[in-house]
Amino acid sequence: MLSRPGSSPATQVDTAGADIAVRLDGVTKRFGPATALDQAWLTIGRGEFMTLLGPSGCGKTTLLNLVAGFLSPNEGEIFIDGKLVTDVPAFARQTGIVFQNYALFPHMTVANNVAYGLKARHVAKDEIRRRVTNILAMMKLTGFEDRKPRELSGGQQQRVALARALVIEPKVLLLDEPFSALDKNLRASMQVEVKEVQRRLGVTTIFVTHDQSEALSLSDRIAVMSQGRICQIDTPEALYRKPADRFVASFIGEGSLLRATIEQVQGDTAIVSIGRAKVAVPSAPLSGLAAGTDADLFVRPEHLHVAPQDACAIEGRVAAAIYQGGHVDLYVDTPHAANERLMMRIAARDAAGISGTGAPIAIGISGEDAVAFPRPRV
Ligand code: ATP
Repeated sequence: MLSRPGSSPATQVDTAGADIAVRLDGVTKRFGPATALDQAWLTIGRGEFMTLLGPSGCGKTTLLNLVAGFLSPNEGEIFIDGKLVTDVPAFARQTGIVFQNYALFPHMTVANNVAYGLKARHVAKDEIRRRVTNILAMMKLTGFEDRKPRELSGGQQQRVALARALVIEPKVLLLDEPFSALDKNLRASMQVEVKEVQRRLGVTTIFVTHDQSEALSLSDRIAVMSQGRICQIDTPEALYRKPADRFVASFIGEGSLLRATIEQVQGDTAIVSIGRAKVAVPSAPLSGLAAGTDADLFVRPEHLHVAPQDACAIEGRVAAAIYQGGHVDLYVDTPHAANERLMMRIAARDAAGISGTGAPIAIGISGEDAVAFPRPRV
């Protein structure tokens, strides 16, 4: 475990023995008085697919542009392949980038677009021809060499942009929301293709998106960002199961907050109560809080189940039951909800006994993966 000064436990990165491709040490970027990126510590292993995920304006593109060399940090250092590149210009960093709008040269053919970076690096003509042919074949673009970008579909333009980024054999592939211009079906198939090519070439990739399902399905690890800060760096599963704070919890997947009271904190575990129900949660997010303090329990829809009325359950009334095929999404009004209706997901066969809107319901909580956070002061 590598612990960096200024990093919270949630942003420490386990890189023991790993081959590091990119490292950011305390990188800060300001635009005038505004801080777009605040003390970013990030380590990316060679061949890793790392996603920067967060809402609009949180600093994802700024971080990507800092790695590409299009921006210079106000503080901190950037390393690629162990070499300090903070002051190295973009063209000398050996990064390949794909922009949201692809930014293909409209007057050049597909082959010339792809060859551009190699010509700029004075690669020999035969070698250029060989590499362009190979990458176009890999990107399923053989036969399109002489077309202009306007004679291609959105998906084909996307593939040309990827080919152009990959043909230079970059140390790092930078992808800035590359799927956002594609329609839903094409998006899904391009995601599979990009992941396949990335895996086959083993190229270290930094991928920017605000789409959590895209991030969860593609990434080895995800850095969740908010307001210029990296909140947590983890695998998709760990982010879903063990969110470090309420922002990460609410940004990744679905869930509801329940008003809870801390009953006891002992070692790694805390017990919180919600009405009659008691739930064991990790104590780390509640550190420093005493028994009797208010907290918010974060529960995923699948942590909740319909319980017998007399059990240690919380009570509510069904507001809506929405049949979803294999399961039913139940929306429940309960006085224990911290802000809005509780959402629970139950198997369709378990919904048979629920009599309908307004029906009283008792809800049990399977505490295994529940997590509680301090209640924010209002
Ligand atoms: P989006 O998903 O909308 O692209 P983002 O997470 O990529 O957002 P950034 O583009 O990195 O966010 O911007 C982070 C913050 O820095 C924003 O508040 C933005 O307005 C600001 N910012 C970015 N570039 C500049 C600039 N050149 N000059 C001034 N402010 C900037």
